[in-house]
Amino acid sequence: MSANYQAELVGVLGRPVAENPTGVMQEAAFAAAGLNWRYLNIEVPPERLADAMIGVRAFGMRGINLTIPHKVAVMQHLDEIAPDARVIGAVNTVRRDGERLIGENTDGKGFLRGVRQDAGVDPAGARVVILGAGGAARAVATELALAGAAQITVINRTAARGEGMVADLRANTPTAVRFEVWRGVYRVPADTDILVQATSIGLYPDVEGMPPVDLSAAPAHMLVSDVVFNPPETRLLAAARACGLPTLDGLSMLVYQGAIGFEMWTGEKAPEAVMKRALAEA
Ligand code: NDP
Repeated sequence: MSANYQAELVGVLGRPVAENPTGVMQEAAFAAAGLNWRYLNIEVPPERLADAMIGVRAFGMRGINLTIPHKVAVMQHLDEIAPDARVIGAVNTVRRDGERLIGENTDGKGFLRGVRQDAGVDPAGARVVILGAGGAARAVATELALAGAAQITVINRTAARGEGMVADLRANTPTAVRFEVWRGVYRVPADTDILVQATSIGLYPDVEGMPPVDLSAAPAHMLVSDVVFNPPETRLLAAARACGLPTLDGLSMLVYQGAIGFEMWTGEKAPEAVMKRALAEA
């Protein structure tokens, strides 16, 4: 057999990217799958994104991730946007189909895989409360709605943002969606099946941050999930556990969004356990 020293390239474009741990998890997955692929953290300022995308095409990169500040701006540089990513309004993963670059959003899909695989909960028919209306909230809400959630209540501090998100969900999914402005302490209703904390409250260094919610009416089966992955055990999750409620941390979403990206790029099943371990060590 002749030698092949040419690696396939993937990576993340963003600013900053130095502390982004996704590459550690993807490279562990490539090694486990016996693939000669490299994942590069590439710092790109906003005014150089168009050039960077020409580079992605010129280098024949097999796929890329986008992080702050490029998730929306990248859309104009792609050949196609997946329908769910269009509803979410942001792309975090680009895959290649021949010469075409296709924009996807794996954040909400990763969340859903965690709900099903790690928490053992079927989102179909679920009544969901989502705290927040930013990018993570939109991704999670869109995929929950497309997976058949019966009802989604969006709670957000800033009304305009929450109302915009709800309008987009109503226009593009069959799920019943409501919005409430977050004022003071929000009492999670007794008929809630899944609570999703999708704000940045509790994100390092704000580790003492606790979203103002009252869990006293929550049913015993209600899944409390948090998109914040650093720290993995947020104060909200600790409080939920103290009440005996099942929980799902943000590391699960992070691993599975990467696993779905791996599968889109390579066409192979992701070695999820390897990815989880690599991320936990990082
Ligand atoms: P955005 O900036 O798009 O949205 C932030 C949201 O948090 C808004 O709804 C904002 O409300 C709300 N918020 C922030 N501070 C407060 C506060 N003090 N009180 C009430 N609401 C608040 O951020 P993203 O959606 O991109 O990210 C949110 C979190 O999700 C981050 O912690 C990020 O790390 C995490 N994340 C995790 C992923 C994973 O794989 N686990 C993937 C992607 C993101 P308002 O509109 O009123 O400002």
